[in-house]
Amino acid sequence: MSTPPPDEAPRHEATLLRSTVVTANLRRLTFGGSGLHGFASSSLPDERVLVHFPTEPPHARSYTVRRYDPSAGELDIDFVLHGHGGAAQWATGARPGDRVRLSSASGWFRPPGEIDWLVLIADHAGLPAIGRILEQVPHNLEVRVVGHTADPRDRLRFTSKARVAYTWLPDADTLLTEVTTAALPAGIGYLWCAVEARTARRIRSHFRRTLSIPATHMHVMGYWREDKEEWERRYAAVSDRIDAAMGDAMIAGKDFEAVRDAVDDAMEREGL
Ligand SMILES: Cc1cc2nc3c(=O)[nH]c(=O)nc-3n(C[C@H](O)[C@H](O)[C@H](O)COP(=O)(O)OP(=O)(O)OC[C@H]3O[C@@H](n4cnc5c(N)ncnc54)[C@H](O)[C@@H]3O)c2cc1C
Repeated sequence: MSTPPPDEAPRHEATLLRSTVVTANLRRLTFGGSGLHGFASSSLPDERVLVHFPTEPPHARSYTVRRYDPSAGELDIDFVLHGHGGAAQWATGARPGDRVRLSSASGWFRPPGEIDWLVLIADHAGLPAIGRILEQVPHNLEVRVVGHTADPRDRLRFTSKARVAYTWLPDADTLLTEVTTAALPAGIGYLWCAVEARTARRIRSHFRRTLSIPATHMHVMGYWREDKEEWERRYAAVSDRIDAAMGDAMIAGKDFEAVRDAVDDAMEREGL
């Protein structure tokens, strides 16, 4: 669904209070300090902030606010320790007293009124948002979680009032096959998906083109990009053709989702 671009400027200084092991490759960092006093939660469970890390050169990446407790003045972010990348490395070595800066918060999870079911699809990076979604949903909802993590020890089960069924897949390809072949539950529902960017593109295409699901009934987002450095190199070589596809769609008066289709198609054509 189309939403205004989020405000990404650093607005709040957050001081690391403690670090907790969630699973083998997931670390919860709890932030606090007076810099968080003015933090305004969006209350959306896939609430995202841009975290500005105190590194040289400067580095900033999107993360989910796993928990925000205004009375305690605490904010949790769960970091996947994927082994490379400035954010993951900072989280691995962070000590109490270390500081980051956070943008204001925004989110996308907006089911259309009354629904019977939710299907939540994620890899490791999307699990913090799924945890927060499941903690908030009502008891009368049927929820399916379809997920994969590179390390099976990172498969999480979350507290929820709803009836939740988990399907864990070994990798992104089997997750894509599962999502594009499994029937959706009966009734009215909402699909939320946060996975690697190319997989996300293919899942969105299936929901939109094969199943004709309206944009109001789904949110599909790429949370990270496999082999990003090589992808950026290949993207730079064809970016004029991607830009042209986007420009043509905009000149033709297409809406946000149709422009996104045109860009996605151009990426597929270019092997991106
Ligand atoms: C809205 C939103 C919410 C997000 N919430 C969370 C969250 O709560 N927790 C979380 O851990 N991540 C979350 N992410 C994903 C996170 O922003 C990316 O994983 C980010 O790329 C990590 O930055 P980095 O500096 O560690 O690596 P980068 O500098 O971005 O990338 C360096 C290398 O690491 C690889 N890489 C990056 N991320 C991953 C990964 N997850 N698994 C394997 N390889 C990877 C890249 O392919 C690249 O080769 C979220 C993303 C979005 C868009």
